[in-house]
Amino acid sequence: MRTCGFCDARADSREHAWPDWLLEELQRGSARLHGLPPGARISASVEAHRPGAPPLVWRGPKANVRVKRVCKRCNNEWMSRLEDIAKPIITPMLYGSRQAVPASVQFTLTLWSLKTAMVFDCLHKPGRMFYSSEDRSSLRRGLLSPTAIVEPLPAITRVWLAAYAGELPATSTVSRLYGDVSVRGRRQPLAGYVTTISAGGFVTQVLTSRLPDHAARTFDLTLVSRPGPWHEATVCIWPSFWSEARWPPPHILRDQSALDAFAQRWPRRPSVNIPPAWLDDA
Ligand SMILES: [Zn+2]
Repeated sequence: MRTCGFCDARADSREHAWPDWLLEELQRGSARLHGLPPGARISASVEAHRPGAPPLVWRGPKANVRVKRVCKRCNNEWMSRLEDIAKPIITPMLYGSRQAVPASVQFTLTLWSLKTAMVFDCLHKPGRMFYSSEDRSSLRRGLLSPTAIVEPLPAITRVWLAAYAGELPATSTVSRLYGDVSVRGRRQPLAGYVTTISAGGFVTQVLTSRLPDHAARTFDLTLVSRPGPWHEATVCIWPSFWSEARWPPPHILRDQSALDAFAQRWPRRPSVNIPPAWLDDA
């Protein structure tokens, strides 16, 4: 029996990996989106990059990529509520409309980005998914109980917004990172996973990294990116500074190669800035 990745119920639906409202908005708004002829057929794909193997690509007519690991209840309840809250925030961003992003909105976009990254991850076979069932069910529990603030995020997750002004309607790229890091004198494997989603002018990137030693859970661990204008091209929304941000950032990703460079800005074999506290008794 195929089970729901988020709650263990029977996965009794085949849901679109891309939220329906988002595809409809892109279709309806194609005239207003950069470079698209009115009524243009919207295509959206999900691409997974794996070290030493060709990328996996899911593509369907009208961006019809479907996920078989979500149950109707999750889809119709908490996921649908999250889409309802995210839709009015993301819609103007599809068109590049300038706006303030208060802390509460940053948190909503963080949850939406993580949920969407996890849904795309569910396109993989179970043994090849990055997020664990514990990661997914804590997101679900966190969204079902409004008092949970930080709990729904897997350890060491970072989320950035960016802006895009090229012609691709909707893209999602996922890549895996493999490395190791020395924590208090012990070498540990580091696994990372980057999901970059673009829809119209809106871009979000989720980076989750994981160490087997749970005691080492900390936001202090930072990966070193490839060189690029990333400081000017991103708005960090998680971890949150709990202050209002502005979107779009000053540097806009102008074309597909800029979007690709952004999606691939984390080297597959990451180098890591080690927090000084971890070196103490090394
Ligand atoms: Zn479910």
